[in-house]
Amino acid sequence: MDSQQPAARPPVPFIDLSAQNKPIADEMLEAIARVFDSGQFVLGDEVAALESEIASFCDSRYAISCNSGTDALVLSLMALGVGPGDEVITSPFTFFATAGAIHRVGATPVFADIEPDGFNICAESTAAAINDKTRAIIPVHLFGQTADMEPLWRLAVLHDIPLIEDACQAIGARYQGRQAGVLGTMGCFSFFPTKNLGGAGDGGIITLDDQALANRLAQLRVHGDTGGYHHVAVGFNSRLDAIQAAILRIKLKRLDEWTEQRIESAAHYDRLIDARGLGHWISRPQADEACRHVYNQYTIRVPAFERDDILSSLRDDGIGCAVYYPKPLHLQPCFESLGYSIGSLPAAEAAAAEVISLPIAPGIEAAAREQVIERLAAACENQAAYSSRRAA
Ligand SMILES: *Cc1c(COP(=O)(O)O)cnc(C)c1O
Repeated sequence: MDSQQPAARPPVPFIDLSAQNKPIADEMLEAIARVFDSGQFVLGDEVAALESEIASFCDSRYAISCNSGTDALVLSLMALGVGPGDEVITSPFTFFATAGAIHRVGATPVFADIEPDGFNICAESTAAAINDKTRAIIPVHLFGQTADMEPLWRLAVLHDIPLIEDACQAIGARYQGRQAGVLGTMGCFSFFPTKNLGGAGDGGIITLDDQALANRLAQLRVHGDTGGYHHVAVGFNSRLDAIQAAILRIKLKRLDEWTEQRIESAAHYDRLIDARGLGHWISRPQADEACRHVYNQYTIRVPAFERDDILSSLRDDGIGCAVYYPKPLHLQPCFESLGYSIGSLPAAEAAAAEVISLPIAPGIEAAAREQVIERLAAACENQAAYSSRRAA
């Protein structure tokens, strides 16, 4: 054991939502009271106000809210008429909902590999997966950095295939100066509490410029009702609550400040990792020059065979950390029938074996960040000592 154990320090939680909410608790409680007074709990003025504020934040003409990020994806696919017999290309290295939504509308998910030095879908792998059945491509802006869109735009134009952005982790991110959410035909966002803009429950929204699609989305979320129980399509119930909208409107005003905090924390982590010379153990998240990375996660990579030991060592030291995502979607049991196997998508499989996400949520103090990297360095040193003993 390490003989120079530092004095016990408070643990660093992976995310502390109650601390983030505390400074605005009164304002949120007032907003909830306002909703109670209005008596309008589902859709209504509060939701309409949020939609127009999100549209203006994302530079889109329209924003149609719904019940979750998952529903935003399902509704987008439904609005495009994607269904049985169709294929939709997406990344295997994402939260399950991206592929779940494709399956949910009856279409087949087709996985393209990610870029070997990044976490997002690879355009060449996407191009190779396009065929006559391809009806949409869903790039995921994982961890807060947009996918490399330019080659995807070219594919979309060349093959006349719409792009649906899974921007659930990337509100406020930019690509070549443009906001996530307007980089494709539709942009899907989640308001799950741990997202960069999170409510006090589930919620989601779709940003877009096309009026006909916006109308269709607004119908589909209320069972295809155009008003007066006149159903032009079979949708489902995916409406946003007024209480969520009221809370999200308050948080939206702080989003830029919180995003700046995430960016600063990431830059600090980068400097600390470099200063300790951990480069041969750890690869830092790569932020593309053309992008504004909003760090929903700060995700490092370590050698696959050391990952789980480093993870347990950090956890034993009270450092909250997570593995997003331990198993790529093409290897999930529910997608076995799609015919992928180990080795099918090597870059995604390597990422799944190597990643560790460190605490990055707004409110994390500089001292806590130093503690995280200090414990990470200690974990790597212990592994190095162990590996060399094992080799000897
Ligand atoms: C969170 C998330 C979703 C789903 O959002 P929910 O609101 O939880 O349904 C979809 N895709 C990605 C990449 C996500 O991170």
